[in-house]
Amino acid sequence: MFNFDFDVSIVGYGPVGSTFAALLADMGLKVGVFEKNEDVYPKPRAVGFDHDAMRIFQQINCAELFRPALSDFKSTVYLGASGQIIQKILTLSPPFPLTWEPHFNCDQPLLESLIRESNTSRSNLTVFLDHEIKVCNQSSDAVHFSCVDGKGLIHNFRSRYMVGCDGASSFVRKSTNSKLESFDYDQHWIVVDMKIDEEVLERLPKTNIQFCEPERPSTYIVCPKNHRRWEFMALETDPKEELLSEDFIWGLLKRWLKPSEAKIWRSASYRFHALVADEWLDERVLLCGDAAHQTPPFMGQGMCQGIRDAGNLAWKLSGVIKKEFEPNILKTYTNERRPHVIETTVLAKKLGEILTIRDPVKAAARDEGMHIQGQGKPIEMVRQNLIPPLRSGIFDFVAPGAGEVFPQPIVQIENGLEILMDDIEKFKFRFVIQNNPSCHSLIHLFKELDIPIVLLVSNFLEALEYKNECLKLIPVIEVNGAVSRYFQNRDLLGALVRPDHYVYAGFLELDGAKGVLKSFREHKAQFSI
Ligand SMILES: Cc1cc2nc3c(=O)[nH]c(=O)nc-3n(C[C@H](O)[C@H](O)[C@H](O)COP(=O)(O)OP(=O)(O)OC[C@H]3O[C@@H](n4cnc5c(N)ncnc54)[C@H](O)[C@@H]3O)c2cc1C
Repeated sequence: MFNFDFDVSIVGYGPVGSTFAALLADMGLKVGVFEKNEDVYPKPRAVGFDHDAMRIFQQINCAELFRPALSDFKSTVYLGASGQIIQKILTLSPPFPLTWEPHFNCDQPLLESLIRESNTSRSNLTVFLDHEIKVCNQSSDAVHFSCVDGKGLIHNFRSRYMVGCDGASSFVRKSTNSKLESFDYDQHWIVVDMKIDEEVLERLPKTNIQFCEPERPSTYIVCPKNHRRWEFMALETDPKEELLSEDFIWGLLKRWLKPSEAKIWRSASYRFHALVADEWLDERVLLCGDAAHQTPPFMGQGMCQGIRDAGNLAWKLSGVIKKEFEPNILKTYTNERRPHVIETTVLAKKLGEILTIRDPVKAAARDEGMHIQGQGKPIEMVRQNLIPPLRSGIFDFVAPGAGEVFPQPIVQIENGLEILMDDIEKFKFRFVIQNNPSCHSLIHLFKELDIPIVLLVSNFLEALEYKNECLKLIPVIEVNGAVSRYFQNRDLLGALVRPDHYVYAGFLELDGAKGVLKSFREHKAQFSI
């Protein structure tokens, strides 16, 4: 029998590795993280993340830590070749389904530092910075791996599972049989983060812009405080060695700024790809984040998808290690997440293709086509509605709501405190039901499963009659109505919600609830849930 150093070893301490490590540690596992660099990657990358990611940051107690460093993500307008608006990507209007604003502006290196800072308080999480994983082998019981530290010393470890959060050129992925499937995208871009003088800020656009100009497609993003981001497509004719030189960057920026008005904070050039690994699980080794998929950044979803991976995998892996689930549940990780990532990546690629037409004739045809499609107005879409539900995996897809993200209201609990609903019974399946005439029957039906039942009431006296029936009943009063609205729009009495806040199934009436129970029992038998 092996003596394990860690339940889970995580390779890579970027945003995904650090979030995943926190989730697993909070679930009670012994976690080791191995990162080849000492400091966070300092170059310009993510400037935005959505409410789904914020919900997971909330789960690891980072949401409030982040708040001072965030601002609201602005709507994006697409300007055609002649400067006319051809498309708008708007932000969801209030009331917000997860209570959080739907999308935030951020600075990725700062977020990463804050997660790292918060992880120092997790005693069951050990971080090895300046340790590069070089060798990794697995046996039937364990993953054996070696890393080299900054002094060249070799260290050997064993863990029950290993998760590669080691980014696009993932060593862990290469050590498995997983192959990257290409969705045929390869573009070279220059990314520049600027710090703008206060008096100049007023003059700059107040919203995010995609300049769909055939001469040089580019992007402008409003970031927190005096930070503004420009991204420029690199052209064949550009001087390859000088793309990041100050002269070249100021040349690109001259239509907006003079060197006396701002400072180049940081810059980088990237190749944008659309790649998704065909398998994210190889026995005891799994992939998460950019190690499993890379998307062009035109939807701002790369990091968000990695954070969703972490949310999906954490409760399953934790359950396997605690022997609550069979290891076969891990197969549902790829089955659930991969199609979701592919759908979003293909959409990001399509949005990128609108932006990056280089032929002026084709660009004019694009503008004309979009004008017709929008019936004379710019095409409008809502950013958050572009994210699909999960379409396969541990759900009862016969039932309404299955695979959707469950909302999160503020609720009042019995001691009078107002809290975000996810903070009740973290990391667990739970029933959420609206107080209604079928409640006795529903609670009677569900209580055998030993799953918490959150009951939405308008005052706590309503819950008294059910309390004797079920010890795991948690009455709450909704403060901002996100769940009531969700139920009302779908005529639901309630829903069974997974630990990662996806709806396993909703039910319209008692018979529907019996059907949900039956399918859940079948899943339980399959995975020992
Ligand atoms: C220009 C640009 C704009 C973007 N904008 C957005 C956005 O607005 N919103 C969004 O959600 N996403 C955005 N992204 C994507 C986002 O930056 C990435 O998806 C995210 O960084 C992936 O996180 P990760 O933790 O999976 O990988 P990484 O951040 O790449 O971290 C991987 C870590 O693994 C370490 N590592 C690698 N190999 C080893 C090894 N052998 N041993 C030990 N450690 C190792 C690396 O040093 C690194 O720290 C953008 C990306 C770019 C380039």
